[in-house]
Amino acid sequence: MVLRHTLIAASENERLRSFVARTPATRGVINRFVAGERASDAVRAVAGLADLGVYSTIDHLGENTADPAQAGGITREYLTLLELIYDAGLASWAEVSVKPTAVGLSLGAEGESLAADNIARICESAAAAGTTVTVDMEDESWVPATLRVVAVLRREYPWLGCVLQSSLRRTEGDAAAMAGPGVRVRLCKGAYAPSADTGHRDKRDVDRAFVRSLRTLFESGAYPMVATHDPRLVAIAGTLARRNGRGHDDFEYQMVLGARPAEQRRLAGLGARVRVYVPYGREWYGYLVRRVAERPANLLFAARAVASR
Ligand code: FAD
Repeated sequence: MVLRHTLIAASENERLRSFVARTPATRGVINRFVAGERASDAVRAVAGLADLGVYSTIDHLGENTADPAQAGGITREYLTLLELIYDAGLASWAEVSVKPTAVGLSLGAEGESLAADNIARICESAAAAGTTVTVDMEDESWVPATLRVVAVLRREYPWLGCVLQSSLRRTEGDAAAMAGPGVRVRLCKGAYAPSADTGHRDKRDVDRAFVRSLRTLFESGAYPMVATHDPRLVAIAGTLARRNGRGHDDFEYQMVLGARPAEQRRLAGLGARVRVYVPYGREWYGYLVRRVAERPANLLFAARAVASR
């Protein structure tokens, strides 16, 4: 836990960022977890995954935009990305994931409507390309506004995906309220530490809550997107799918780029739908530090790269 907090604090540090970018070993870690800095890099990663029978959801890295112009710029980046996906003939293999604060949610009183407008533009473009959008969930302070934005946009775009985090106590209620025929819900543990009042602090409680919400989603007609690398939870998802008569097209496993690639291929080889979160963009540093904070063993990957030079 201490290491996790230290590493998250490190994600704010600019000098560390440029050191990491310049050091060959850590460059190897970046290349494993991040597709690159340009939209074309992400599309190339999607094509490689599609060759393996694995789907993608592409995230343009960055959050908490400073002003409406920047939020508009990020929205346009998504529109360009969706055009590239379409032009490459990859719309059936790739959708996009959007962070609400990247497209305006954190910009004061107008933030919620600005984010809703920008996500609507992205949805419009995704629909034209023949694919979908999932709204990422950020720290707990943004959960109520994000759920409101998703609820409004789903009237027009019923296929819009939403993320729920089992680390939050409210999530079981949200899952029950949201679960309806075809509703796309990505369930994850949550990448942010919730407060003691609102969240589960013990990892075992987060896991148990994950299973309860997952059961709710499988037992309703929802389309569960099971976002975890945890072998136990992956196995439980498979059991729940079978028990609820779900075929391979009725739910999906999701993992991040670079995490358990052999497992991604194994599941896809069994016929399951597997989708990989493909991040790209210049703001890779905070994302990377969070991945290492979640699983310090990822640092070993860097150490091995040094040793083999
Ligand atoms: P953990 O609890 O981190 O680990 C449990 C076990 O899983 C480990 O002991 C190990 O056996 C195995 N494991 C975990 N990671 C690895 C690895 N890299 N390699 C090998 N084994 C591993 N969080 C949000 O808050 N909002 C979001 O919108 C969001 N979107 C996500 C989208 C996707 C596709 C994924 C996969 C995650 C997303 N997350 C999001 C992050 C998520 O909330 C967790 O922080 C993250 O997935 C780590 O939790 P875990 O369930 O994978 O397992």
